[in-house]
Amino acid sequence: MQTTQIRLTARPVGEPKDSDVETATVDLPELAEGEVLLRTIYLSLDPYMRGRMSAAKSYAKPVELGDVMEGGTVCEVLESRSDRRAVGDIVLAYTGWQTHGVAQARHTRRLDPAEAPVSTALGVLGMPGFTAYAGLLEIGRPAEGETVVVAAATGPVGSAVGQIARLKGARAVGIAGGPEKCRLLVEEYGFDAAIDHRSESFADDLAAATPDGIDVYFENVAGPVGEAALRRMNTYGRVPVCGLVANYNATEAPHSDFTFPGFFSNVLVKSLTVRGFIQDEFTRTHHEAFLAEMARWVGDGSVRHREDVVDGLENALEAFRGLLTGRNLGKLLVRVGDDPTA
Ligand code: NAP
Repeated sequence: MQTTQIRLTARPVGEPKDSDVETATVDLPELAEGEVLLRTIYLSLDPYMRGRMSAAKSYAKPVELGDVMEGGTVCEVLESRSDRRAVGDIVLAYTGWQTHGVAQARHTRRLDPAEAPVSTALGVLGMPGFTAYAGLLEIGRPAEGETVVVAAATGPVGSAVGQIARLKGARAVGIAGGPEKCRLLVEEYGFDAAIDHRSESFADDLAAATPDGIDVYFENVAGPVGEAALRRMNTYGRVPVCGLVANYNATEAPHSDFTFPGFFSNVLVKSLTVRGFIQDEFTRTHHEAFLAEMARWVGDGSVRHREDVVDGLENALEAFRGLLTGRNLGKLLVRVGDDPTA
């Protein structure tokens, strides 16, 4: 069996370029005991992949030059040398930017298409949904009547943060790029207010939408948006630091008037809790509850979600560039092959 794969060939400077990757078709090895041969149906594109392209020290190792780009996938089992998985099973795997892959069966999770569309295992019922759930409930801890603010709010993390906040009785204010995304936040996701970060009046609009200040700022983006939100925090406010997507393509340190001493003074005088996290630290403690509770919320319509599906592995890099600049509307997926469950 052959696979067509997208490999990283250079460390991007700024926005990833076509010349930073190559496409190659190669033979896959014969299956060893315990392994499965997988055909990719959906590839998840996520902001963290920009970090994997870089050699800068981070919480996970970078993708080596010449290696296939990493990524979560939903796949069909084509061959199995394990009792755990049968031919025809649909599984969640981590086979990356390629059409086929070989994985240890025990590193895959079987999905039941009768329970939810299989693509949701990469979005609202997958890693991004879990990030929102664990980060908001464990670190943000929104209480009834409090104000929760999140940016990248139409994305899979942000949209879940706002909707879960509302389920906990908090007021949800979403920040997004452009009037269409803002309309969606209020009309489809039920946010109490939405603010366009591209508007000239952004800081004033944020102040108007948060008249009682901000109790929880779920940090997804950093940059001027994060600064404006941090300046409006209430005493004992909580800041789960989830992502800094505004900086991921940066080639130099971002300019800011909100310097390190100013930031720390704010943390001190308002007794803020600022806590970074990588979602998998909560897997053992929260994942089971997440799967049960989120599936119920999605099933009864109290959490809504959107997918932005791009066809063809060859379009993955262009779609990924769009993810970092806000061209996506909802969870960004690449349909690499036919979905037999659709
Ligand atoms: P997403 O929202 O689908 O995509 C990223 C969004 O960021 C873009 O659509 C864009 O939306 C917004 N954005 C880009 N540049 C911006 C800027 N300069 N200012 C304001 N907004 C900007 O992505 P996601 O998968 O839900 O991820 C959201 C964040 O969570 C990312 O920072 C990601 O790295 C982080 N994350 C962290 C963990 C963890 O374990 N800590 C896990 C998953 C995700 P607009 O058009 O609305 O600007």
